[in-house]
Amino acid sequence: MRLSYYFLPTLKENPSEAQIISHRLMLRTGMIFQASAGIYAWLPLGTRVLRKIEQIVREEQDRTGAQEILMPTIQSAELWRESGRYDAYGLEMLRITDRHDREMLYSPTAEELVTDIARKHIKSYRDLPRMMYQIQWKFRDEIRPRFGVMRGREFLMKDCYSFDLNYEGALVSYRKMLEAYIKTFSRMGLTAIPVKADSGAIGGDLSQEFQVLASTGESLVFYDQALDSIVKNKGEVDVNRLMSLYAAEEGLHDPQKCPVPEDQLKTARGIEVGHIFYFATKYSDAFNACVTGKDGETIPLHMGSYGIGVSRLVGALIEANHDEAGIIWPESVAPFIVGLLNLKPGDNKCDTLCEEIYHKFLNQGIEVLYDDRNERPGAKFANMDLIGIPWQIRVGTRTMETGQIEMKCRRSGEIQELSFESALTSLK
Ligand code: ATP
Ligand code: MG
Ligand code: MG
Ligand code: MG
Repeated sequence: MRLSYYFLPTLKENPSEAQIISHRLMLRTGMIFQASAGIYAWLPLGTRVLRKIEQIVREEQDRTGAQEILMPTIQSAELWRESGRYDAYGLEMLRITDRHDREMLYSPTAEELVTDIARKHIKSYRDLPRMMYQIQWKFRDEIRPRFGVMRGREFLMKDCYSFDLNYEGALVSYRKMLEAYIKTFSRMGLTAIPVKADSGAIGGDLSQEFQVLASTGESLVFYDQALDSIVKNKGEVDVNRLMSLYAAEEGLHDPQKCPVPEDQLKTARGIEVGHIFYFATKYSDAFNACVTGKDGETIPLHMGSYGIGVSRLVGALIEANHDEAGIIWPESVAPFIVGLLNLKPGDNKCDTLCEEIYHKFLNQGIEVLYDDRNERPGAKFANMDLIGIPWQIRVGTRTMETGQIEMKCRRSGEIQELSFESALTSLK
């Protein structure tokens, strides 16, 4: 992509309405546009990042055997009356009336609809287990939408649902998701700690939130420091060990009962980026979603649900990856892998060389943003630093003299001089 043609409405000044760094940077880099309170349009740069995150989430969901579906955002109130949540959900639910005066709503989550699908089509123990997920927009009329996409009203969520014959089966599904979540966040270069969360009226231990540690997080978490190394580990996930280590949200943490010695207990603020939850037969009972067992008996489905805040992750990633100059994208979610900077635009030789390099990147399938604008080098450096492209390739007078380009690593700040071919090899 040529920057001269790219829609990148960056801002010079810090927007005054943004309280935290990720919100400021998302507005300054033109990733999002506020349409109304807590509702955003995603502009080209933001959309690329959102899609990258979504794709990592999708791949790790697929790996568990979960199957992607797509459910409607607008749903019938009837269905939600069956579970009792139409009345219980309260003001966070956006309610809509259609032209026939039928009550509808914008789905804040989708247990009801997926259970309706299951009760009509999952009839025998032989149809189990199953997992289905979607990556779909949700709406919650948050009382205080804030921090940009971190607490929006409309937001993109991955929600997966598991169906099993019994508790043991449901536990297997739950553990698969736990493992998938660790892999998902680790691929994004995030440290997300699974902490025990409130499992509400159902009770039991099987509810964990994934918290990305950041000083601006809204939750307070207490956890065994041994968890740090496990969630950072890129290899196989030791689910048993993971589930045996102590980690709890403020509300569930009891210093009297905490088994972790004080010097091993860490306290930190966290951003909730995911939540996994076993809720037994809560919805299948309400919906009469049952299968026939081996001996002809009727068995209610054991279900779980598993959410990831896909759009919230964009903010969380920036909270975890920035410096004074701007964003520092991890390569796995970067909107472009390399930024190509023409430092002498208008100079025939430099333009030709840059065009050549640009096309080589395109041919190799390396995502490149080419700054071909008629701007000073300083402005170009600052802009690339701000939008956080992991690698910068700088082509200028020295390149024409020595044949070497400058390659800057955004994260370390290190600048190397090397031939274009070596740079290309290192990026592949
Ligand atoms: P929170 O405690 O932040 O209000 P939640 O517990 O209500 O979140 P869940 O119902 O567990 O949210 O939804 C699954 C995931 O969706 C959350 O872990 C979070 O990452 C994301 N999410 C929830 N609400 C929002 C929101 N208003 N804006 C963006 N993402 C959200
Ligand atoms: Mg909430
Ligand atoms: Mg929560
Ligand atoms: Mg939650």
